[in-house]
Amino acid sequence: MKYAYFKGKIVPFEQATISIMTHAFNYGTGVFEGVRGYYNTEQEQMYILKLKEHYQRLLLSSKALHIKVDETLSDLIAITIELVRKNGYKKDVYIRPLAYKSEEKIGLGLHGIEDDVAIYLAPFGNYLDVSAGIKVCISKYRRISEHSMPAGAKLTGTYFNSSLAKAEAIGKGYVEAITLSHKGNVAEGSGENIFMVKNGKLITPPLSDDILPGITRQVIMGLAKKELGIVTLQKSFKPAALYKADELFFCGTGAQISPIIQVEKRKIGNGKIGPITAKLQEIYFKAVRGEIPKYRKWLTPV
Ligand code: PMP
Repeated sequence: MKYAYFKGKIVPFEQATISIMTHAFNYGTGVFEGVRGYYNTEQEQMYILKLKEHYQRLLLSSKALHIKVDETLSDLIAITIELVRKNGYKKDVYIRPLAYKSEEKIGLGLHGIEDDVAIYLAPFGNYLDVSAGIKVCISKYRRISEHSMPAGAKLTGTYFNSSLAKAEAIGKGYVEAITLSHKGNVAEGSGENIFMVKNGKLITPPLSDDILPGITRQVIMGLAKKELGIVTLQKSFKPAALYKADELFFCGTGAQISPIIQVEKRKIGNGKIGPITAKLQEIYFKAVRGEIPKYRKWLTPV
C-alpha cells in the first residue's frame, strides 16, 4: 500500500492517519465500499469491476448517514483510477473507499459534523474458497433490521453485527454464517448475498429482507438470465428451505461466487459444487478479467 486518497489529495499511505477522537472511530459513523481490481497477466491490464455502481451505492449510503461528499461521482471514479495507477500493483487488488464523519468531536448526532472521503487499496486474493465449496452455519445473530439501521446502506457500524456472525461461524468451525432477517427469513451471509438453486430455478431473498443490495447479486441475476435462460425469483424463504436446495452459493465482491456445500451438519445437494453454480462461476471469472468482450462494459481498465 503505497498511496492513499486522504483529505482531498493522493498522499503516501503512511500520511493517511486519523485521530483517536474522530467521530467515525468512536461511533461507527462511516460508510464504505469494497471494489475489486482484477489483474489480467496475459493482457498486462488491470480491470476495476463495476466501479461506477460501487460509487453510486457509496453516495446513497452517505445520504443515509447525512455524510456530505464533496467529490462527484465522476471525481471519485477519476481519483480511483489515478490511485490504482499510482500504486502500480500487477496483481488483484481490493479497493476500499470510505466516507466518514471525520470531525474530532465528542457527541452523537449526524448533522453539522465534518465529513471526509478516504480511499486505499491492497493486494487481495480469494476471500472465500471458490473451488472446494464452503461449510456454513446459521447465525444466532439476526441481520440488522431496517428499524435499527438503514439495512440497504453499507455502514461501517453495521459490520459489528456482521463480525459477530462471522466470529460465531469461525468459533464453531465453519467459514461463514448465514444470517436471518428480523422476521426469521434467510437474509444473507455476513458480507455476501445468497442464492439457492431448486428444481432448475434460482431464488434469492428480496431487498425487503434487510439485505444489502449487492452489485454481484445484480450481476448474477443478469448472467443467469442471459447465459442460462434462468429467471431469478426474489422471494423470502425460511432456513428450512436451505436444506432442500439443490445448490447454494454466496456472492459478493469479496466472495465472488462461493459455493456452499454444507449448512450446519447437513450436506447441500450431493456435497459438491452444482452445475449451475459452476457455469455461473466459469462465466463470471472470465468476464471480470476482461476475457469476454460483451462484458467489458463492467470493467474500467487502468
Ligand atoms: N451483503 C453484505 C452485508 C456485504 O457486505 C456485501 C459486500 N459488499 C454484499 C452483501 C455483497 O455486495 P456486493 O456484491 O455489492 O459486493
